[in-house]
Amino acid sequence: MWDDLSADLEWNLMVQKKGIIALAHSDPELAAMRMMSDSQRRAGIKIEMLSPAEIKKKVPSIDISDKPALPIFGAQFHPEGGTVHHDAAVWGYAQGASRYGVDICVGVEVTGINIDAEKVTGVETNVGSIAAGKVHVAVGGYSSEIGRMIGIRFPVETYAMQVMTTDVMKPFLDYYVASPRLHFYTQQTLKGDLILGGPLDHWQSWNSYATWEESADRASRIVEYFPDLAHVRVVRSWSGICDCTGDSPPISGQP
Ligand SMILES: Cc1cc2nc3c(=O)[nH]c(=O)nc-3n(C[C@H](O)[C@H](O)[C@H](O)COP(=O)(O)OP(=O)(O)OC[C@H]3O[C@@H](n4cnc5c(N)ncnc54)[C@H](O)[C@@H]3O)c2cc1C
Repeated sequence: MWDDLSADLEWNLMVQKKGIIALAHSDPELAAMRMMSDSQRRAGIKIEMLSPAEIKKKVPSIDISDKPALPIFGAQFHPEGGTVHHDAAVWGYAQGASRYGVDICVGVEVTGINIDAEKVTGVETNVGSIAAGKVHVAVGGYSSEIGRMIGIRFPVETYAMQVMTTDVMKPFLDYYVASPRLHFYTQQTLKGDLILGGPLDHWQSWNSYATWEESADRASRIVEYFPDLAHVRVVRSWSGICDCTGDSPPISGQP
């Protein structure tokens, strides 16, 4: 989809197929990755397994020694995986929708949903009512808030996810490197800063701030594998919210 989307939307989404390396830290993890790779290959996805030496060749700054508490045993490599600039994707979709006649009301908050005889008739907003025969809810982590407006409890929970960026640096990392086991990922953006990502917070919230504990924990994990980053400054950290089901898969079906 991403190959053609910039052209379809007539907007540069800054798609970068830099390649994704998912690290394994034990033999059982490697075995699980091999099994997953086999089924992904059968689905036509290009996936390779890498040894520690092959990882080091692609990512010279990574520590493949036994110094980290959980050394690197190997990795799954998805050469066509990569990143898309999130703002560009939102703007591209917004422009495309606009071209098809969608009115986008920026800064307008839905405060209620109008229902008559068990049928939706429209929404209330902070600038007035909008009549509608159908209402599609696409509010990410705020889904349960919208559910509450009509007395429905969606089986989703909201968690914040924190992220940090570093100073802009010379080219340092060509790939997107993640550790599913240790819940961290890092990649260097086109601008040159590193994104340092991690797990969802362990408690539910609608927070938009970052915590010292999570930032310190993430920085120390990443520095363990990229010791050269020890003196790099973190310049910004923040969080956003994610809607999650209890066991993670999406919920689909007819109402
Ligand atoms: C820190 C962080 C890092 C992430 N990194 C990645 C990543 O690397 N890769 C990836 O694929 N995904 C990532 N995600 C997840 C990704 O951002 C979400 O899956 C995606 O944004 C969900 O899109 P959405 O359109 O469903 O919801 P959102 O992007 O959350 O948009 C929902 C919109 O609804 C609006 N809204 C809410 N309530 C109302 C209301 N009452 N009235 C009107 N508008 C309302 C909100 O203001 C918001 O603009 C990350 C998320 C976070 C927080």
